[in-house]
Amino acid sequence: MDTLVDKCQSAFVPGRLITDNIILNHDLIKGYGRKGLSPRCVMKLDMQKAYDSLEWVFLEQVMVGLGFPVVFVKWIMGCVTTVTYSILVNGRPMQPFVARRGLRQGDPLSPFLFVVAMEFLTRKLKTLRLIPDFNYHPRCEKLQIVQLGFAEDLLLFCRGDIRSVQSYLWREDNKMTKKASLSWDNVCYPKSAGGFNVIDICLWNRAAICKHFWNLCQKKDRLWIQWVHSYYVKGKHIWGCDPPQASCMVKKAMKTKDTLEKAGYLYEEILKTSHLSIEKIYNKLRGDYPKVSWKRLICNNSGYPKWIFILQLEALGRLYTRDRLAKWGVMTELICPLCDNHDESIEHLFFKCNFSASLWGKMLT
Ligand SMILES: [Zn+2]
Repeated sequence: MDTLVDKCQSAFVPGRLITDNIILNHDLIKGYGRKGLSPRCVMKLDMQKAYDSLEWVFLEQVMVGLGFPVVFVKWIMGCVTTVTYSILVNGRPMQPFVARRGLRQGDPLSPFLFVVAMEFLTRKLKTLRLIPDFNYHPRCEKLQIVQLGFAEDLLLFCRGDIRSVQSYLWREDNKMTKKASLSWDNVCYPKSAGGFNVIDICLWNRAAICKHFWNLCQKKDRLWIQWVHSYYVKGKHIWGCDPPQASCMVKKAMKTKDTLEKAGYLYEEILKTSHLSIEKIYNKLRGDYPKVSWKRLICNNSGYPKWIFILQLEALGRLYTRDRLAKWGVMTELICPLCDNHDESIEHLFFKCNFSASLWGKMLT
């Protein structure tokens, strides 16, 4: 395990302690509040139910990829995949049901299998250094630290610039560094417009400051608002009031008149509105987007997020099919591996391919 699992993972490996990374991490984030510190960034990645949602096929592929003997992998998969669960209802076990994925809690084998699976992510993240736009965290360059693992919790480190942070989201092979599957703007579009509804933090922040201003206009019963009214506004018209002696936070809040106007709010409206959420302002600032014809396929779809993601990339024409990879010179083989007959394109892969057609046939009958 020690030679197999990267040093950045400190849990579940014999001879390593989870405290190893805690000590290192303490030092890495020391002094973050200091002024004049060079830009640096730490992100915490929370994996939802990592243990229970581990896909068995994935685990098998990782073990094969790491070079475990095929027989050994079969033994392990035998242990992992023959699991049944039963739920206690009023103290009585109900009909057992078989598991489809996940690792058994309490099985002494599970922690090892978990770190083996995590090793894939570790090695994938290590290739970040191949991306020209990625810069190391100022205190991580010498040892080339990109992440620290605490079992399923991960801390990601980089320099505090947008390009470096985005490198985590825009993972690709180094040959295609200039070809992101989607632009950042696209990702922030609402789902109905073909985006992924990821929050644009800068815009959200502006909307949040607007909310402060709305609170001020409404003279909400809060101490800081009473204070601003009695010392700065002093009964004047608040719309356009710009007290030079105010602190930067109050100044910012009072200067949001333009932003609110841009979002389509007039002063009278602001006074009349009894409830104004940041989300509402954000949506107004973001503006309207033309809806895509396939929005009903994506919105309120109860399928696995991964399926919906692939479906959406397909609808956007952004899947890495062989015809597109060939255009970028990444791949020269064009023939569809499912039928060995035609070139692989989105149109072919999902609709025209004989293999897919037979699948559709089975599913729709
Ligand atoms: Zn085919």
